[in-house]
Amino acid sequence: MNEAPHECPEPPARDALSPATVAVLAGRPSRLPLAPVNPPVTLSSTYVATAGTARPDDVIYGRHGNETWSAFESALGALEGGDALLFSSGLATVAAVVALVPAGGTVVVPRHAYNGTHDLLREEAATGRIGVRVVDVTDTGAVVAALDGADLLWVETPTNPVLEIADLPVLCREARARGVLVAVDNTFPTPLGLRPLTLGADLSVHSVTKYLAGHSDVVLGAAVTASAELRDRLHAHRTLRGAIPGPFEAWLALRGLRTLHVRLDRATANAVELARRLSTHPAVRRVRHPSLPADPGHALAASYLDGPGAVVAIEVAGGAEAAERVASAVRLWVHATSLGGVESSLERRRRVAAEPATVPADLIRLSVGIEDVEDLWQDLDTALRSSTGTGMPTGGTERGVAG
Ligand SMILES: *Cc1c(COP(=O)(O)O)cnc(C)c1O
Repeated sequence: MNEAPHECPEPPARDALSPATVAVLAGRPSRLPLAPVNPPVTLSSTYVATAGTARPDDVIYGRHGNETWSAFESALGALEGGDALLFSSGLATVAAVVALVPAGGTVVVPRHAYNGTHDLLREEAATGRIGVRVVDVTDTGAVVAALDGADLLWVETPTNPVLEIADLPVLCREARARGVLVAVDNTFPTPLGLRPLTLGADLSVHSVTKYLAGHSDVVLGAAVTASAELRDRLHAHRTLRGAIPGPFEAWLALRGLRTLHVRLDRATANAVELARRLSTHPAVRRVRHPSLPADPGHALAASYLDGPGAVVAIEVAGGAEAAERVASAVRLWVHATSLGGVESSLERRRRVAAEPATVPADLIRLSVGIEDVEDLWQDLDTALRSSTGTGMPTGGTERGVAG
């Protein structure tokens, strides 16, 4: 029996779809009869030669490109409106972006930003390659004043770990007017919460390790840009410095990206509820989360972020020692660094020597996961009360946290 091959209808155009749908749809093989729905994990260090001279963008060797990386890159690029490049880690991506700054150039960076970013900039400044200006990112006037003669503005919003909100639309506009490149570390908001390129940023940077991959099982990074020139320079950096991801890690990250919207929805809903309850907890001095009407960044965050995110910071009554006790008393929450996994984790940030002294010593950063919110509350409430002498919880039965 000879049947004509049937045609598969083309998927709808991306710009007609919401980001949640794009996260599921993008980066798949062409829809052809009997084609797989997922990209393969391409494990190959070399590729069969073409006849004659190779073209410059031919992938002839495994450091130049990989079809599993490309699948992730096309999905992330579709979500953020640019070309994405995957790197071996978030920090490798930060290093690639900082390398765009010419020798003798200047970088403006918030005083609260990812520790590794600060360490990298400090080291480059110590060698004399670049200058660094540290600013309070909530002081828009001070940031704009620091832009004069600068080459790169680095922005985190919300900042790690104190969750300050930058006036990103204004900062992008002012930086552009002065010819200063803007890179936004979009790890906390994710592309579902913020698309920096649409606000005028030149680069969006991710630790893919966190929400995008989402399961605390890979370390990866990515940069997205709509500028072909920046894309080519970052690509050359990746190839020459060898900051390349593993194909299997890239595949895991794409698998994680498929569920980003459901994970983030649940984690954010949990974070909003926990932040609300924690703000009246007797063992908590202060809660920082943009969802709270009393949070200094509340209105600004709502003006340009789609959602307050799932990282919450609390300051524990009783100081650093009480905060340490909380971190060791939790049984469901994981006491660990990092964030963005399906499992809830927490950490007293000042336990790390590199954390700036402007971060309160009693501050615990919560990375709220996707578990049942009552189980999370029960465990945290118990740990807070037992560690601060504010008494045991009244009412409610212990459930689901035996271990
Ligand atoms: C974790 C993190 C990084 C560094 O990413 P790695 O994948 O750990 O190298 C950069 N920025 C932010 C905001 C992060 O949370």
